[in-house]
Amino acid sequence: MSKLKIIRYGHPLLREKSFDVRKLDSRMRELIRAMAETMYAAPGVGLAAPQVGVLERLFLADVDYDRRDENPEDTRNLHVFINPVIIEESEEDEPYSEGCLSIPGVEAEVYRPSRIVIAARDENFEPFEAEADGLLARVIQHETDHLHGILFVDKVPLLKRSVLGGQLNRMKREVLEELKDLDPAYPIEA
Ligand code: ZN
Repeated sequence: MSKLKIIRYGHPLLREKSFDVRKLDSRMRELIRAMAETMYAAPGVGLAAPQVGVLERLFLADVDYDRRDENPEDTRNLHVFINPVIIEESEEDEPYSEGCLSIPGVEAEVYRPSRIVIAARDENFEPFEAEADGLLARVIQHETDHLHGILFVDKVPLLKRSVLGGQLNRMKREVLEELKDLDPAYPIEA
């Protein structure tokens, strides 16, 4: 199973909106398998399809990473969310220091509702609703944002963001340089 390349901050696809998944065909099943391998290898607790350059409304989460020991395959607790919609969120929110596989080396405190209800389809394309709190609620909101082209750094208060600004701009410049090398005609706004 091959791992997928995770695109980084500055790549224009991270700012696009993703499209609903129409059906769960073999291509989609293969994508889910490859995304899972990529997420576990990173390692990460969540991965959204746009992060591997695919604009489909799909993300994975596994927050039970402390159980991943010698037998990683057996101890996985993978959740698949297809066409997810957050249908309820608690009024109280809480801070948590977030990171993102697409923004390596950057962490910042973000406030989000502490409890949510999500409606989505699972790995068999069956609809379900689930309530989540704690880290899973956090990851679900972070990954759902990815499907709307929103990144966690957008939610960091301005003052703190200006501290991250240098790091983010450097990453963006690097990524845009890489893209230019791949395709000189790629339309880029720095
Ligand atoms: Zn992320």
